[in-house]
Amino acid sequence: MLTYLDHAATTPMRATAVEAMLPFFSERFANPSGSHRFARDARKAVDEARDQVAELAGVKPGEVVFTGCGTESDNSVVTGVAGTVVCPAVEHHAVLQPVEHRGGVVVGVDTAGHVDLDQLAAALTPDVALVSVMAVNNEVGTITDIATVAAVVRRAAPNAVLHTDAVQAACWLDLRTITPHVDLLSLSAHKFGGPKGVGVLVGRPGASFEPLLVGGGQERERRSGTHNVAGIIGMSVALRATDNEREEENARIAILRDALVDGLRSRLDDVHETVARSDKVAGSAHVCFDGIENEALLYLLDEAGVCASAASACASGAMEPSHVLAAMGVPNERARGALRLTLGRTTTAADVAEATTAVVDSVGKLRAGRAA
Ligand code: PLP
Repeated sequence: MLTYLDHAATTPMRATAVEAMLPFFSERFANPSGSHRFARDARKAVDEARDQVAELAGVKPGEVVFTGCGTESDNSVVTGVAGTVVCPAVEHHAVLQPVEHRGGVVVGVDTAGHVDLDQLAAALTPDVALVSVMAVNNEVGTITDIATVAAVVRRAAPNAVLHTDAVQAACWLDLRTITPHVDLLSLSAHKFGGPKGVGVLVGRPGASFEPLLVGGGQERERRSGTHNVAGIIGMSVALRATDNEREEENARIAILRDALVDGLRSRLDDVHETVARSDKVAGSAHVCFDGIENEALLYLLDEAGVCASAASACASGAMEPSHVLAAMGVPNERARGALRLTLGRTTTAADVAEATTAVVDSVGKLRAGRAA
């Protein structure tokens, strides 16, 4: 039995989403861009999914662009707006890398990972075209006060568009409270019980961008490529269920997360909570243990059947120093002992108990090994 505490990496799919997708792999397989009745059936399903996603995000259906993943949504924005781009140093690499590639401006953050508003204001010169600030950080769980960021951007750079990567926000924050403040917003279905390989880019009126993919002109020329019909349907079902359960889940998961972190702190010395719980989403636990290397810790946890992570999941699986912790000013020695445990819809009290025991045992072993 695995104890899965890596919900920020990906979430298990909801059975209702899987079920809703199945007909689109078989009898309803048509391409929604076609002109026959079979195609119209698929188009109707995509349109209904668009209506749902729009309602749940608090925007109009025409503002919803279906994409291939959160990375694509982020890349589309950063590469698709002409002019200087600005983002904080703790962004996901899907934003940070294209910003750096374009020679954009990367601004600092405080010790909790919030964008430094003074540095942001100073960076907002008249040639700034795009500001991208994530709604929730994937590594440490910090929530951005997007209304405050928007106020700074609107005042200093009234012509700039504001994008938020809300990929890690959908489970925990009501998207309707975010969209009124931004021009563009990215989502990814697999982070909220939907399938991998489908995302959303919300584009508010006036926020235009050069499409990353051109060709068939789907999504009103904003994202070419045959629709992933099943994926889009699965995503809309998962987002509806997530929205229905969000309030209850926030309360339930916060209790489990607190039990997890408090359990570790009471049974181990020198455990540092990276960000105060009041600053972060309920599903995120991030701690640093003095005197250990997280690579070794993850190995022992894996042996014990606990799925955890050190920083964000990356394709190579290699442990690179976290750019997020570095930007927050966490010293390197401390960052080396960082552990991210992320909870979600399927997490139970038994998972928390298992994980607590496994982490306490593993950290104990590693520390004893060092002392010997
Ligand atoms: N942005 C954030 C904050 C993420 O956590 C992730 C996924 O790890 C992404 C973007 C990329 O999303 P996707 O996996 O759909 O490409």
